[in-house]
Amino acid sequence: MNKFGFTISKGRQIDYESNDRRIADYIFEKEPSFRLCIECGGCSATCTTSNFTVFSLRELNILIKRGENDQVRQNLKKCMLCGKCTLVCPRGVNTRNIVVLAKKAFQKSDEYAI
Ligand code: SF4
Ligand code: SF4
Repeated sequence: MNKFGFTISKGRQIDYESNDRRIADYIFEKEPSFRLCIECGGCSATCTTSNFTVFSLRELNILIKRGENDQVRQNLKKCMLCGKCTLVCPRGVNTRNIVVLAKKAFQKSDEYAI
């Protein structure tokens, strides 16, 4: 028999208690300008990768801060580190370095379980 009608939606609440914020803490410590991000999306609007894929640096910043690291890890590799986003950020966030540091943090977490 074909399935039809409504199904129960999966919960979409963010469970901050169980999220892992160590990647965010590592970036905050090494690149304090990350705190200045107001999630305006200027970086995403300029990003070359965003023009061709479903990648958004703005979204990545939000996911890092929330500690939703699985999604961050999947998206990090799409950034080409061209630095265009850094040139347009109205808050002077060193966006390129955020991506670099996130990659380093994941490497460290794999090696030493930070
Ligand atoms: S342009 Fe700067 S302030 Fe705006 S979302 Fe990107 S990093 Fe944050
Ligand atoms: S450095 Fe990465 S996020 Fe920034 S514009 Fe280039 S590809 Fe996009």
